Amino acid sequence: MTKIDEQVNEYYNKLLKRNAGEPEFHQAVAEVLESLKIVLEKDPHYNDYGLIQRLCEPERQIIFRVPWVSDNNNVHVARGFRVQFNSALGPYKGGLRFHQSVNLGIIKFLGFEQIFKNSLTGLPIGGGKGGSDFNPKGRSEGEIMRFCQSFMTELNRHIGEQVDVPAGDIGVGGREIGYLFGQYRRLNNRHESGVLTGKGLTWGGSLVRTEATGYGVVYFVEEMMKEHGDSLSGAKVIVSGSGNVAIYAIQKAQELGATVVGFSDSSGWVETPNGVDVQLLREVKEVRRARVADYVSAATGATFHADGSIWSLKADVALPCATQNELNGEHAQTLAGNGVRYVAEGANMPSTPEAIEVFRSHGIHFAPGKASNAGGVATSALEMQQNASRDSWTFDYTDSRLNEIMSNIFRRTADTAAEYDHDGDYVVGANIAGFKKVADAMLAQGII
Ligand code: GLU
Repeated sequence: MTKIDEQVNEYYNKLLKRNAGEPEFHQAVAEVLESLKIVLEKDPHYNDYGLIQRLCEPERQIIFRVPWVSDNNNVHVARGFRVQFNSALGPYKGGLRFHQSVNLGIIKFLGFEQIFKNSLTGLPIGGGKGGSDFNPKGRSEGEIMRFCQSFMTELNRHIGEQVDVPAGDIGVGGREIGYLFGQYRRLNNRHESGVLTGKGLTWGGSLVRTEATGYGVVYFVEEMMKEHGDSLSGAKVIVSGSGNVAIYAIQKAQELGATVVGFSDSSGWVETPNGVDVQLLREVKEVRRARVADYVSAATGATFHADGSIWSLKADVALPCATQNELNGEHAQTLAGNGVRYVAEGANMPSTPEAIEVFRSHGIHFAPGKASNAGGVATSALEMQQNASRDSWTFDYTDSRLNEIMSNIFRRTADTAAEYDHDGDYVVGANIAGFKKVADAMLAQGII
């Protein structure tokens, strides 16, 4: 073990003790620190001034009570979070997640990942994340609105267009951003467009923001496949999930000539050997807010499975677009056995460390979420640019900017991996490229 190994392990062991009971946060940090050992061996100055310890400690963590009243007049108390992790590159930027699994450790893992992802976009945004353990499933329109208003009543004091700019994530889409924005405007008597992204198109939103994460994943995959002499045309693709990221990844992959052979939600998965009817899927998920089984009853040639795993399907490309740790070592073995050649994460940290190890050992090209799903937050930053200049760009122009950003992220990730003697290891490339920009800014700005 080298001196650097020992030192980094010591940082990590301390972090485990000080952040007990936060396994997802530990997992996200462990992966990044493993890559950083490679940088620290080559560029030891990144180990000065407590840089690594400061990077792993959020600048600020806010936890608050969110009381709300359901339609049957019961009082509920949810917990709200905003972790403002790092603002060296710009205002804190990152989504809000409303899901019953949310806790501090999950928000910290997401906020930590966001630092490197946002850095990779090349745009001036820091890293943060927030959310609540509120479960929006089955709640009425009025309940959702009152919850968002209560959540913003506290969050409002901590955000602002130059301070912290939240957006959507699981359970938070255009409808929720509307209610959150309305309450912010009311409390502050300010139409401050730049305080949230993912807004409606008539009040400061950007074209392409809705599609951006899914489209961006596919633009990244195209670049990765091109690098290895392949293309999406004629390829079979598995997309897990059926939320915002999955829907637009499916649409773009099929537009580029791939067949999407399956998608899923928390109730089960759907096999679609002849491809997905995106219009119908959007109607089921976005308009009716229903489960994937409803898609099957209206579609032809699609089968619903309540048991088993979507990762048992045979395909060339797998895009996990549902949630963290949805793809484990066993799933990865099955995918490898079935001949999968490319995996790109649309969700945040959907592959377990064991799964990533299997991909590595089978020579499967693997793109980590912080690189491949950065298109969403990048387009949020483009929305902020439009808000700042009181402009609105066309769909085609915004989409071309997104496409260019994704190719740049791919290039920087691949080149950085090669520079550090890990050719083709996009985990190492993304972690190091994302880290160096933030680290340089932190070193220049002093010990704060
Ligand atoms: N929640 C998204 C992410 O994980 C987008 C965040 C944003 O647009 O600020 O990157």
